Amino acid sequence: MTDLDVVVIGAGPNGLAAAVTLARAGLSVAVYERADTVGGGAGSAETTLPGFRSDLGSAVHPMAFASPFFRRFRLAEKVPFVTPELSYAHPLDGGRAALAWRDLDRTVEGLGADGPAWRRLLGPLVERANDVVRFTTGPVLRIPPQPLVAARFGLAALDQGTPLWNRRWRTEAAPALLTGVFAHTIRRLPSPGPAAAGLALAVAGHAGGWPIPVGGTQAIADALAADVRAHGGRIETGHPVRSLCDVPTARAVLFDTSVPALLSIAGRRLAPLLRTLLVGFRFGNGVGKVDFALDGPVPWANEDARAAGTLHLGGTRAQIAASENEVAAGRFPEHPYVLVSQPTVLDPTRAPAGKHVLWTYLHAPRGSTVDPTEAVTAQIERFAPGFRDLVLASSARSAAEIERWNPNFGGGDIATGAVSLPQLLARPVPSADPWHLADGVYLCSAAAAPGPGVHGMGGYLAARSVLRREFGVTAPPDLA
Ligand SMILES: Cc1cc2nc3c(=O)[nH]c(=O)nc-3n(C[C@H](O)[C@H](O)[C@H](O)COP(=O)(O)OP(=O)(O)OC[C@H]3O[C@@H](n4cnc5c(N)ncnc54)[C@H](O)[C@@H]3O)c2cc1C
Repeated sequence: MTDLDVVVIGAGPNGLAAAVTLARAGLSVAVYERADTVGGGAGSAETTLPGFRSDLGSAVHPMAFASPFFRRFRLAEKVPFVTPELSYAHPLDGGRAALAWRDLDRTVEGLGADGPAWRRLLGPLVERANDVVRFTTGPVLRIPPQPLVAARFGLAALDQGTPLWNRRWRTEAAPALLTGVFAHTIRRLPSPGPAAAGLALAVAGHAGGWPIPVGGTQAIADALAADVRAHGGRIETGHPVRSLCDVPTARAVLFDTSVPALLSIAGRRLAPLLRTLLVGFRFGNGVGKVDFALDGPVPWANEDARAAGTLHLGGTRAQIAASENEVAAGRFPEHPYVLVSQPTVLDPTRAPAGKHVLWTYLHAPRGSTVDPTEAVTAQIERFAPGFRDLVLASSARSAAEIERWNPNFGGGDIATGAVSLPQLLARPVPSADPWHLADGVYLCSAAAAPGPGVHGMGGYLAARSVLRREFGVTAPPDLA
């Protein structure tokens, strides 16, 4: 006899998605979270000044409307979102910028001589955006439901993930625009893993767009937690789990944790070969994050960029590749790649009237202790002269401090495990059911397929595996 049907360790979006699915299937579920609030990488708080609300981790949610889990959960009916017309902007020196509008035609027009090449690369995938989501949010080791779309996607990723990646481009703008998205994975460039992950994001930018939740990302975690409780689940915060003795006994334990945390808590329950494979699962490089409270909107030299939800800073394709390759070599780059979200341009509720918050991070070597504030400020100032004068307050976390805040992000790796091609194809190990690790032991975090991002799919698919294996339930519960 066990105390409960299911225990979930960790209340990040994946742990909560698993708990929602299992509680709605009628099982007794308890979630144990080390932090004092739910959300993990999907939380928000006043980190700079009272009244200025910043996202602690995730800020922009290309998967909010596209994720099969969030669709079934009807997230868009539970949390209000705003979606910018300009999904992302890529400022270049001299007041120029490459712009990825939700509208593919407008983007193609703005890219001039490279517009047709942009359309040839992305147009067919945007037309089949739902199929792209279907195979990029499931386990990779299976026959894709849409093999032709998968093949086209794979060819595009190879086209843009090898040293021949400049073949199709004639200008600076379009390749820079794509490189800004590829760089999300914090890997050496060019390489196929970042190209694949980046292409999926670029397709989303022209399909549902890159929405943000009104009030901050915490709203997503809170909606999931409310649903768990509404279906009889229990969530205990301030409850770190160091061994299985810290939680009640259960038929299944789901780990919304890093791989090292799972190994230290339940390693003895795993087969020796599996344990050896998991010891080889690696964190990637990291980020250093800076939140700003601003006296006004950022004065981007390029006026169109002022309306963007997200901006990628780092200059040309060659400049970004050089700085990413410095990080890959373990060095803090002189001009790092910086990701910026300016939520208050779209959602004024997050700051006092007329004021703004700015969410930023730069890429840094794993475990870096460098305070990122000055490097981020300099990179913004490069494309928005006068930015410095608007800063009312800022709050920073180095890569090492990111891990101290949330150990899932080891060394500051916000992907919970490097997004290298092997770790993308077999996450965390080669298996058609990569969430199931041993009898009653499951990994449901971003360290398992389909990987990082707030989409809930790791949690949902792990929960489906639990239902099937432990409880003989094959039909998914109603999540709406
Ligand atoms: C700075 C930053 C920016 C990001 N930007 C984006 C973005 O814009 N868009 C996007 O989609 N994604 C983004 N991400 C990634 C996204 O936040 C993660 O992929 C996502 O949160 C992973 O969800 P998860 O549930 O797997 O893990 P987490 O969100 O990490 O949650 C895991 C939870 O488990 C808890 N936990 C861990 N170990 C234990 C233990 N032993 N006992 C009890 N509790 C434990 C942790 O405290 C945490 O609350 C970003 C992340 C960061 C840090």
